Amino acid sequence: MPDISPSRVHLTDVVLRDGHQSLIATRLRTEDMLPVCEALDAIGFHALEVWGGATFDACVRFLKEDPWARLTALRKALPRTPLMMLLRGQNLVGYRHYADDVVTRFVERAAQEGIDIFRVFDALNDLRNLKAAIAAVKASGKHAQAALCYTVSPVHTHDMFVNDARRLVDMGADSIAIKDMAGLLTPYTTHTLVSALVEAVDVPVHLHTHATSGLAGQCHLKAVEAGCRHIDTCNSAFAGGTSHPASEVMVAAFQGTPYDSGLDLEAIKAVGDRLREVRRRYVAFESEFTREDIGVQISQIPGGMMSNLANQLKEQNALGRIHDVFDEITRVRGELGYPPLVTPTSQIIGTQAVMNVLTGERYRAVTNEVKRYLLGGYGQPPAPVDEAVRRLAIGDQPVNEDRPADHLAPEMARYTEEIGALADNENDVLTYAMFPDIGREFLEGRRDGTLVPEPLDVKQDTDRPASEGTPTEFVIDVHGESYEVQITGVGRDTGGKRQVYLTLDGIPEAVVFEPRDAYLAPPLPGRARATLAGHVTTAMPGTIVDVLVGEGDSVEAGQPILITEAMKMETELHARVTGKVVAIHVNRGERVMPGEVLVEIE
Ligand code: MN
Repeated sequence: MPDISPSRVHLTDVVLRDGHQSLIATRLRTEDMLPVCEALDAIGFHALEVWGGATFDACVRFLKEDPWARLTALRKALPRTPLMMLLRGQNLVGYRHYADDVVTRFVERAAQEGIDIFRVFDALNDLRNLKAAIAAVKASGKHAQAALCYTVSPVHTHDMFVNDARRLVDMGADSIAIKDMAGLLTPYTTHTLVSALVEAVDVPVHLHTHATSGLAGQCHLKAVEAGCRHIDTCNSAFAGGTSHPASEVMVAAFQGTPYDSGLDLEAIKAVGDRLREVRRRYVAFESEFTREDIGVQISQIPGGMMSNLANQLKEQNALGRIHDVFDEITRVRGELGYPPLVTPTSQIIGTQAVMNVLTGERYRAVTNEVKRYLLGGYGQPPAPVDEAVRRLAIGDQPVNEDRPADHLAPEMARYTEEIGALADNENDVLTYAMFPDIGREFLEGRRDGTLVPEPLDVKQDTDRPASEGTPTEFVIDVHGESYEVQITGVGRDTGGKRQVYLTLDGIPEAVVFEPRDAYLAPPLPGRARATLAGHVTTAMPGTIVDVLVGEGDSVEAGQPILITEAMKMETELHARVTGKVVAIHVNRGERVMPGEVLVEIE
């Protein structure tokens, strides 16, 4: 008999979405999910979160899986339990605002493929950005759960959250979730906030909080005492750290109380035992941040963002700068009007902060996404933006104050035409619409039968030639005296140390040094090193998206010359001098590295 007591706590287990997104960079493959589905389905969770968020991107970009096929497979393997997805409002599962017709079709398709509960949020809590998605969910006859991104700032008061919740219910929300992606809540704050929300709205209040700071289990307890009956937990195999409190722990916490979830602890534990074995395959993707880190109470950086930043900096051999980047994120966030840090604002701010740190000059390079943000392209920031930063980034361009999608013409027809016969159905069109470059590449690979998932062992090659371009600092002791030396251009990276060939008395000799700074750039493909002001170069490893000039063109200082993509963000590279383009060393699609001459202007 199902327990229908009004005090019963309902658990939504997020292991198939947020759990692995938080701890192994969203890499869990469908083949590793399906074997535990029958057991998961039998437990009786209120819902299972299985789709959306970063999973769609990870499927297409890294795993070379069709995300829609994953949903179909999971729906079939989980026939009893309601399935939930995380939808980024007007951004869907991508990083920009889509026109309303794309939002509507995406929601309709996801509903038809098996999603029962749509958790919809907007990164800025600009409620206008939830309107089209909530309307589409309701029209599909599914459950529209509106999530408010929880954050701490001078402008985010409990009254603000309560007023937003009321407005969302008026917009048709069937339930309200507090989405505490960074684990910023504390137990007593939770009690106050949940009490106020439960009092203010007639729909269920859900709590989604991350275990980053170690407080999440206590927050759940206080939330339940304050009248919340729905909490998000994660199977213990992917719980804790930047993920969530373990389902098993929360079931045990309420057993024998009026809040008893009624779930079978042993059955959940059995799933965990199997998933713990599965997790061993993904050791290469393990987050560096798996233990309690009270620092998030200060830095306010969400778990998924921390693990992604760590992975991105690791790829650039700049992991040693991560704490500088964390500090810079706090600063950039304030300057941009205190947006909550969640996709896509977490990527926008994270990438800008990485650039500000790695270039050594704040806002010398500004991503196109930061420009779009400052132009109002994502909606209204919670607080006014820093005027000096705005002027630096967009000058005098007018700021749009309308709902961003009100300025977007319908897009589905164009996407359908562009992708043509590569799309077997509308799901494929939507995949392409989400990620035009990697989506097309994926559909071509599927047609040609050449899709290969990213290998599970991506440990870095430890015997590759070192950078020509980036000097590496060493401390060398000679006859008792320490010398700080910068070395450019030779050597091999041998597991964190650098083997360098020095010529001593005419005889080359291999010497192994320990780099002082972790910044060892990957190898250059043979481009020269930028030395003149007319050399257009990049601060970040990336890919050339577009070359905006031709040889012989006259250009002005400040004019955009190239567009690069780094960390999923596009950046314009500008001419620093006025002159003529005398050489172009890059083509679209080519990888480029910091310090290389990409275009020469004289
Ligand atoms: Mn989350």
